[in-house]
Amino acid sequence: MQLAVIGTGYVGLVSGACFAEKGHTVVCVDINTKKIEMLKIGRMPIYEPGLEEIVRKNVTSKKLSFSTNLDKAVSKASVVFIAVDTPSKPNGQADLSRVELAAKSIAESIKHYALIANISTVPVGTGKYIRRIVSKYISEGASFDIVSNPEFLREGSAVKDRLNPSRIVIGAETERAINILKEVYSGYDAPLVITNTTTSEMIKYASNAFLATKISFINEIAHLCEEVDADVKQVALGMGYDKRIGFDFLDAGLGYGGSCFPKDARALSQIAFENGYNFTLLKAVIDVNHMQRVRVVQKVQKALNNIEGKTIGILGLAFKPNTDDVREAASIDIINYLQSAGVKIKAYDPIAMDKMRDLVSNVSYCETPYDACRDCSAVIFVTEWDEFKNLDLERIKQSMITPVVIDGRNIFDPKQMHDLGFTYSGFGR
Ligand code: NAD
Repeated sequence: MQLAVIGTGYVGLVSGACFAEKGHTVVCVDINTKKIEMLKIGRMPIYEPGLEEIVRKNVTSKKLSFSTNLDKAVSKASVVFIAVDTPSKPNGQADLSRVELAAKSIAESIKHYALIANISTVPVGTGKYIRRIVSKYISEGASFDIVSNPEFLREGSAVKDRLNPSRIVIGAETERAINILKEVYSGYDAPLVITNTTTSEMIKYASNAFLATKISFINEIAHLCEEVDADVKQVALGMGYDKRIGFDFLDAGLGYGGSCFPKDARALSQIAFENGYNFTLLKAVIDVNHMQRVRVVQKVQKALNNIEGKTIGILGLAFKPNTDDVREAASIDIINYLQSAGVKIKAYDPIAMDKMRDLVSNVSYCETPYDACRDCSAVIFVTEWDEFKNLDLERIKQSMITPVVIDGRNIFDPKQMHDLGFTYSGFGR
């Protein structure tokens, strides 16, 4: 099928490339000309394992192309996916301005009929809102349907997730829309959940809010574990064997970050508020997550007494491993808190340093993790990159002013770290 994907970011680019990989002909559109120019010369604007390979392969076979010309891409497509960003407004509400603009531009470009499938994460009820916008701007004689088709890929394994989704949710109001989207996904082996648009939009928020809840829950348990001298890793293991609980999202530490969980938890809380419901549990989840970032600074303060004027190394800047995404990463808050307390920051990340440079200034970015630890009074592990698991810890200890390690992701074994001579603090053990 001929598809257009509007918005060529983490979701749009991965989705477009994966649709092409499944045999469709796809044009990925963006208003960011720099991004499209990069892609046209084969350079990736984001890091995602396996992405470059499938992009290159499908561009070569002419199944995938990139454009800033939305009108041309939409006029030829039978399905148009909206994959633009929906960031938070200051009050937590999702900012739909990009979705509005995309919907208007799509409407003006439909010549006969198009199915508009929204894969951006949007507040419950947005499908109906998009329908109103498109109805207003579509030319006479042309028609459309709207579907909500939320995306569940995880950065770091986005290509794998997009090619083998855990489920495909189709929220639609007409048989025609359902059948067209079923055809798009005919090459996929995944359960289909077919429902109306509003329910589909809620599925996405409820999924992310639930995963965020699991993380904040285990962080609360971790806090208690510290008080009673229990080991949260063992607790999570013992819990996870219960199939009703599972092992995933039970890693205590600095909490969740990234472009989805924080914004979606806030947006759902705001949706509840606007509908007269006080979502107490979700508010607590958000508060607990925030406190984890404060706690790590308290741990450094406890270990060093006075942190003003000292140098602290930050290992890991991305919000999680295998991505260069630093949006709402714990590292940003931690660096800001430490800098406002007069701390000098050295930092290292295998791939996220360029993105971080645009966001945080006055940081000394280092070539290697060892450089980032040298002459530091403490080191904080913020992202659990595999590369950190095999560091020469003795070498790190020798190079530091005081061997203080705060392990924000429970990467290391506390006993081994103490035996090596570190003043070590993890989370919940
Ligand atoms: P992103 O910021 O990486 O990409 C969005 C892209 O849309 C940008 O390149 C931007 O230039 C482009 N854009 C904005 N307005 C446009 C317009 N009118 N026309 C054409 N292009 C336009 O965002 P993302 O991380 O890909 O997220 C997109 C949506 O998917 C969000 O709603 C997000 O919540 C959701 N989502 C994200 C993930 C994830 O892991 N990143 C997972 C699932 C769902």
